[in-house]
Amino acid sequence: MTSPIWHPFTQHGLNEPIPLIARSEGVWLHGADGRKWIDAISSWWVTTHGHSHPRIMAAIAEQAGRMDQLIFAGWTHEPAETLAAGLTAIMPADLTRVFFSDSGSTSVEVALKMALGYWLHRGEPRQRIVVMEHSYHGDTIGTMSVGERGVYNRAYEPLLFDVTTVPFPAAGAEQATYDALEAACRSGAAAFIVEPLLLGAGGMLIYPPAVLAELAAICARHGVLFIADEVMTAWGRTGTLLACEQAGVVPDLLCLSKGLTGGAVPLAVTMASEAIYAAHLSTDRGRMFFHSSSYTANPIACAAACANLAIWREEPVLDRIATLAARQAERIARLLNVVNPRVCGTVAAAEFPSDQSGYLAGMAPRFNAAAREAGVLLRALGNTVYVMPPYCITPDELDQVYAVIADFV
Ligand code: PLP
Repeated sequence: MTSPIWHPFTQHGLNEPIPLIARSEGVWLHGADGRKWIDAISSWWVTTHGHSHPRIMAAIAEQAGRMDQLIFAGWTHEPAETLAAGLTAIMPADLTRVFFSDSGSTSVEVALKMALGYWLHRGEPRQRIVVMEHSYHGDTIGTMSVGERGVYNRAYEPLLFDVTTVPFPAAGAEQATYDALEAACRSGAAAFIVEPLLLGAGGMLIYPPAVLAELAAICARHGVLFIADEVMTAWGRTGTLLACEQAGVVPDLLCLSKGLTGGAVPLAVTMASEAIYAAHLSTDRGRMFFHSSSYTANPIACAAACANLAIWREEPVLDRIATLAARQAERIARLLNVVNPRVCGTVAAAEFPSDQSGYLAGMAPRFNAAAREAGVLLRALGNTVYVMPPYCITPDELDQVYAVIADFV
């Protein structure tokens, strides 16, 4: 019998092979049949220090031996308290409050709800969310609403709410983005949500810190909330702990997930400014923040995230990131069969010159299959190829990844 599993973003009608992975370590995925693959996309951008990192695995095992799960409405536990204290210590000081959830999408949903709650409880209700063209914030109804519309959400269009979209700040055309954001702010927007410096699923599109700083300044001038979706960009991906750091930007709401646990187990947080928390603070129960999921702040996931924070505190993570960033820049520049090579910290991307540029175009599946056959996990976005490996990848392993791209015709 074939597997009953219905995989995400997978067309089962094409009968493409689905490798069965039995074990993972560092950058390696070991198949049940003895084959192995280099995970050059960090298993959908989550694995930072490497798969099955011993410190994170030990923290999970230790916590699992003590406490599995606890309702988090009105109850608390030590791993969550330690993690929240650790996060407020390393994240921008103005982000004083930590709200837990369990995926990147829910961290964004929470941020959107907090933004609207803030305006409602201040007695000046605002609902309009401003978004950037080509953005991706998740696949739930709310996050699809604030993301790029396309074939992947066409069927659900009636469920999506209306937003104001500003153009991507392409080099030389930034003013159009500023003008559109300024206009949206003037007309009373509630919040602007953006992926800082690097738009991931939209095609690994990069814009400079100065542009991010200007976008944040426009929002600040109008009192419009600035939501940084750092689900992908945080935890060193763009070269610094947060991408916002490079622009000196402190958001009002910050969404974190993926590398929060080093990529080991699902967890997310939305960090909020004191003003947003204070707007919900009251003796009136009707003003509480109405959001939870059953597994909010799961203790085992929190313990994994605490181990991730310890690695950041005690090991030279930023040095590893700088080394990887330099290697990525050097290797992507050497490729002859791509155009528009670019890097943002540890992430390198480029396009295969192809007229088949759509998300579902034939080139990406062909490339992904060729990489899979060559022992590398890569997943092109349309004709954009990118490399986003765990930070522990060695120069030889990186060479194997780039050989797959160089050989693709
Ligand atoms: N936001 C960004 C910027 C992302 O890249 C992603 C996932 O890739 C998400 C949100 C959604 O995260 P999740 O898949 O954990 O729901």
